[in-house]
Amino acid sequence: MTASSPIVPPAAVAVIGLGNMGLPMGLRLVKAGFDVTGFDVSEAARAKFAAAGGRTADDVAAAVESAEAVITLLPDGKIVREAVQTLRPHLKPAAILVDMSSSDPIGTRALGEELIAAGYAFVDAPVSGGVRRAADGTLAIMAGGEGAAIDRIAALLGAMGTQIFRTGALGSGHAMKALNNYVSSAGLVAAVEALLIGRKFGLDPGLMTDVLNASSGKNNTTEVKLKQFIISETFADGFPLRLMAKDVRTADDMAHALGIATPLADLCAQLWDAAARDLDEKANHTQVLRYLEGLGG
Ligand code: NAD
Repeated sequence: MTASSPIVPPAAVAVIGLGNMGLPMGLRLVKAGFDVTGFDVSEAARAKFAAAGGRTADDVAAAVESAEAVITLLPDGKIVREAVQTLRPHLKPAAILVDMSSSDPIGTRALGEELIAAGYAFVDAPVSGGVRRAADGTLAIMAGGEGAAIDRIAALLGAMGTQIFRTGALGSGHAMKALNNYVSSAGLVAAVEALLIGRKFGLDPGLMTDVLNASSGKNNTTEVKLKQFIISETFADGFPLRLMAKDVRTADDMAHALGIATPLADLCAQLWDAAARDLDEKANHTQVLRYLEGLGG
């Protein structure tokens, strides 16, 4: 391809992992006109995607064999590596793999280098914005990898997100995502702790939220989670607590690997790990309220 050749986006796309995020993001791609085949190890997840208008394959080989781009939306980087090992023999030559999960950046670098050495292209492109923005196609996307590889999938990313950041080399998207979720998780814990203190003191939780949102204590949790999911106790925004705990641990592990002292991230990682052990495996991350209430006896 010459420098002036138009970039032809991949038409056939496989989406591996049809959970909270894979389902709405896969449907965005269908809506944008891509030829999408979805696969999930869970039959229930495949059935839900099919019921919503997506096409599914019964095994991963059938999902990827004609795909020019393969998107993974799996719980963590270890599962991504295992899934890639399974699907790799069935890939088209020169396919591009795009890991949109929140994986660990060191593992991503290693996996990406192996794939690139074998002739495939690889981009890490995790997302932020949750299920609601996945359904709207308004996610923030952090893309790490070679510029030419990101160019190849720009139309795909544009169908799922409105703010696409090029974060740098392979793994940098995953590094940025873990750091974002550390900041988000710390803000969430601070807001919930303030709520517990204020409630016991006699402040009204709804009023507290309004004051925070008009004041310097405002953050993402006070704006889109406190009233909606925490005070209302619906706990239903679609982001599992075990995945938040994983992301905070990833950020804290990065700090240790780089020799940076981060006392708050250390505490935060311990707190989310303990909450993940304490609560049900299916708990939403906003149910950290229950864990913190439990500490009070
Ligand atoms: P999820 O647990 O709802 O979905 C993951 C899906 O992967 C499940 O349906 C599971 O059956 C499937 N799966 C597991 N192993 C598989 C394999 N080997 N092959 C095929 N399918 C397999 O998780 P989610 O909430 O959709 O999150 C996916 C990724 O996106 C995670 O890395 C998460 O941290 C990240 N993320 C989630 C949100 C959110 O709000 N839920 C927001 C941003 C980023």
